[in-house]
Amino acid sequence: MADHFLVVIPRDPKADLPASANALRDALATLAGTDEARVKDYGKLQFIDCGEAFESIACQSCGEEVASDQWHTWMDEDWHGEDGFHLHRHKAPCCQLETNLNALIYTPPQGFARWFVSARNKGRGPLDADEVRALEKIAGVPLQAIVQRY
Ligand SMILES: [Zn+2]
Repeated sequence: MADHFLVVIPRDPKADLPASANALRDALATLAGTDEARVKDYGKLQFIDCGEAFESIACQSCGEEVASDQWHTWMDEDWHGEDGFHLHRHKAPCCQLETNLNALIYTPPQGFARWFVSARNKGRGPLDADEVRALEKIAGVPLQAIVQRY
């Protein structure tokens, strides 16, 4: 059976780990109904993916799908090894928009962050808007919920 995780990352990719990270982890664990939860602080920008749940990536301006090859090329260009990712500006081939990897529309959600909090999910659905708001109050910053499946 696949492993499922409920994950939250800050919407601002520059956001540092908040002092309330452990409280955030505990609150997420309670929502997930598990004691398997953790805080991961990379101290540099990483891509927080959705694993096998991946469907598509689209331009945030015109909605055109971003080809996998194009996306991987940009990922390679933005990867700075020990330094993590830098979100460079890229010109979308669909509509010539200046964009960056974190601004694209990921379905389901994925994103770039310096840290995440995750909890194993044994069968409930994704976090709803009220739950994300409750977690944001603890975190003190806007959050993006991600469902990971491996
Ligand atoms: Zn476009």
